[in-house]
Amino acid sequence: MRCIFCNELFYIKRTILDLFNTDKEYICNRCYKRYPINLTYEAIQLDKYECVIISMFKKRYKIDYNGFYKEYSKLFMANYIREGYHAMFFSHIKLTEDFLELIDAFSKLLDSNIAILCFSITE
Ligand SMILES: [Zn+2]
Repeated sequence: MRCIFCNELFYIKRTILDLFNTDKEYICNRCYKRYPINLTYEAIQLDKYECVIISMFKKRYKIDYNGFYKEYSKLFMANYIREGYHAMFFSHIKLTEDFLELIDAFSKLLDSNIAILCFSITE
């Protein structure tokens, strides 16, 4: 297979147990190490509700994040159905006063806690 980030060919070792596994991989091991997933979970108390922010990476990379679709969809499934929360998705967020005010307004509008999924929280 060819890595969508560095365009290098890579192979996946298979054993007899997963020999016919047809799962496609998009990223080589070297690129997995170059762009490490660093899940962080942050809880912020809003006026009436709570906001949790789950980000996947430590910083913003200039990559096609679709390469991490498997990891992202797992994260998505785990949080989309979280009880008492409305899920929101952003690519990269900046935790400014304005942003938090907006999330606070959303939480009141939706009458619910907010779960935000994003790739990274930028400075
Ligand atoms: Zn690569």
